[in-house]
Amino acid sequence: MTHSINLTQFIIEQQRKSSNNKADFSLLLNDIALACKKISHLVNKGALMGMLGDADSENIQGEVQKKLDIISHEIMEEALNWTGHLSGMLSEEMEHPLQIPSNQPKGSYLALFDPLDGSSNIDLNLTVGSIFSILRYQGDKKKDVAEQDFFQKGSEQVCAGFVLYGPSTMMILTTGQGVDGFTLDPDIGEFILTHPKITIPEETAEFAINMSNQRFWEAPVQRYVEECLQGKSGVRDKDFNMRWIASLVAEVYRVLMRGGIFMYPLDSHKSTSGRLRLLYEANPMSFIVEQAGGVSSTGNEPILGITPTSLHQRVPLILGSKSEVNRVVGYHHTSKN
Ligand code: MN
Ligand code: MN
Repeated sequence: MTHSINLTQFIIEQQRKSSNNKADFSLLLNDIALACKKISHLVNKGALMGMLGDADSENIQGEVQKKLDIISHEIMEEALNWTGHLSGMLSEEMEHPLQIPSNQPKGSYLALFDPLDGSSNIDLNLTVGSIFSILRYQGDKKKDVAEQDFFQKGSEQVCAGFVLYGPSTMMILTTGQGVDGFTLDPDIGEFILTHPKITIPEETAEFAINMSNQRFWEAPVQRYVEECLQGKSGVRDKDFNMRWIASLVAEVYRVLMRGGIFMYPLDSHKSTSGRLRLLYEANPMSFIVEQAGGVSSTGNEPILGITPTSLHQRVPLILGSKSEVNRVVGYHHTSKN
């Protein structure tokens, strides 16, 4: 029998190799993995749990919350707030930072998460997921965390990952030493290393964008997609396929496996700042994509270089294979000259 490596062993061995990770980091990741196993279990049960559908409430961003959005948030919070590894949390579902209860110890990290990404797909039995990002906390542990404590550039993340609740449950993880993928073995309840050292293929002929917003895109994105659509008869001299799942976790996973580009660009009729949230969507996904050899940008600047100014701020997001993203970024630069 071949020896399989589980998530715990993987993290501990990776920490031994690295000098800047603290000892309690592997335990924190185990707590996140446990929360995601619980969410996976609920998502798998679907209608049997009576938890599909809307929750008659909206989150801070004015989006209708699904029952499972709220339950997933509660699972995350309860799995993490007593463990002593964190000094605070930020969730898509909560307007303000979450404090650690005063009777619990605090730690040197902050956890940021989208407890259930793609939740508009949940009633359709399509892939959804959880996204997380870990930052260092260097403030006073006697004080409550403040919004400003979370305003760190994406390049400061010590760890980022996401868990896919698809045909199988998978965790994709980076601690800044490449990207690795784990598959949940439901028989033993462990994440097993199945996709070591993921790298995004360079050559690609797939793009993913919500075409229904085409008339609202900026000129550089219009140009890029137009050239893809021209296929063999255009400047790209090859035919492209279009993909759109409308679930960030599923889109990024496909990009990691098959290459290509995913875009949620500026959208002039909906906002002046994009759709996806910087702190718990764009930043962790960008850290993962760049660790896998890809590029992530707003079109004008690298995502990981943005200094956040609000907890739920949105950004345009263009990520994927290096050559494709660089092409779109190049079009942004030319359009300004
Ligand atoms: Mn989301
Ligand atoms: Mn969500």
